[in-house]
Amino acid sequence: MLTVADADQIIAAHGLLHQTETMPFAQARGRVLAETILADRDFPPFDRVAMDGIAIHFDALANGQTTYPILAIQLAGEPGQPLPDPTGCLEVMTGAVLPTGCDTVIRYEDLEINDGIATLTIPAGMTRGQHVHKQGTDRHALDVLLPAGTVLRPVELAVIASVGQTSITVLKRPRVAVISTGDELVDTHQTPLPHQIRQSNAYLLQAALRDLDIDASVHHFTDDIALITSGLSALLVKNDVLVITGGVSAGKADFVPDILNGLGIRRHFHRISQKPGKPLFFGSSTDDQRVVFALPGNPVSATLCFYRYVRPYLQTAMGMVSDPPLYAQLAGPVTFKPPLTYFIPTRLETKADGQLLAFPLPGNGSGDFSNLTAADAFLELPANTTEFPAGTLVKAFSIG
Ligand code: AMP
Ligand code: MG
Repeated sequence: MLTVADADQIIAAHGLLHQTETMPFAQARGRVLAETILADRDFPPFDRVAMDGIAIHFDALANGQTTYPILAIQLAGEPGQPLPDPTGCLEVMTGAVLPTGCDTVIRYEDLEINDGIATLTIPAGMTRGQHVHKQGTDRHALDVLLPAGTVLRPVELAVIASVGQTSITVLKRPRVAVISTGDELVDTHQTPLPHQIRQSNAYLLQAALRDLDIDASVHHFTDDIALITSGLSALLVKNDVLVITGGVSAGKADFVPDILNGLGIRRHFHRISQKPGKPLFFGSSTDDQRVVFALPGNPVSATLCFYRYVRPYLQTAMGMVSDPPLYAQLAGPVTFKPPLTYFIPTRLETKADGQLLAFPLPGNGSGDFSNLTAADAFLELPANTTEFPAGTLVKAFSIG
């Protein structure tokens, strides 16, 4: 059977092609830039006054002058004025153009102003050019401010705003549909009969996709070949990625893999040597433009498979870096005999030295999803090891 590492490689080999779209920059928080943003002019675009105070020519101060008649006021947002007399000063405000003929700003905090005369209270320690943010010292016109591939945080949106680029090209988010299958499932608002349950996986997947800023459509099909076939066929037209739960195991009503095959989805694998989540199916259309993950229906398995395989796949598909793995020390020993990678829900605690400590929560197997509410992550215990003593450092990945 395929190992977890093999599955990772196969999934990585079938990445979606990046497509782009144009959107208003102010709505692009979290998106990945698909173009280069250049400086439209110097940063700052003029010699900018950096403190409220007066602007002088430093030569006057170097000659021992400590009092300066205020000849005019230069506010932010006004065209630059000249200094009419090199022994005088202009009162200047933060963000104003430094008046021509001035090279230095003295803060109000270092001045006393009486009857239109500014007097330096502590003349020592002043330097030429102080409190002037010189034109082009941050960036020059046409410098690259943001390369393509940048994930846009608020600070990047501010930079884009400042160069006047009202619409930008970003990578498209994949269109994703979530599908639950099963005759035993009813929806949340319904009252299940004794042999039925309320379905929960689709809500888990929908919310977990929202964490990636993906608004997935949600669907349910009963275990009916014709219904699943026509439903999936329609969804494959409108979506890039299908995330299905249920119907992929070895049961009599597990029709999904064969149906997908009939719809042109090539099976790249079906079953991984892992517990839980062994029946995971991954396939794609010949051109890799349509990708399907079919997760086993057991809620813990579905959760594990989403966070371990689907979430990183989608992050890569969106041009983002997938979450780096966490490493945690086992707080107690774990024994696991089967030759499978063992994923075990765990609570994580941060010790005083910053090291994560893992408290495994085995629960009652892959149907016990209420157990997950106490968990922060899954531990990934490598296959073919039986004993994991307390203190072993193991890989973990968060479940939100
Ligand atoms: P299956 O993979 O279809 O054989 O389902 C395995 C188990 O998971 C069964 O006990 C199902 O009732 C349960 N199950 C399947 N789909 C869901 C779902 N969407 N929400 C909650 N439980 C589910
Ligand atoms: Mg089923």
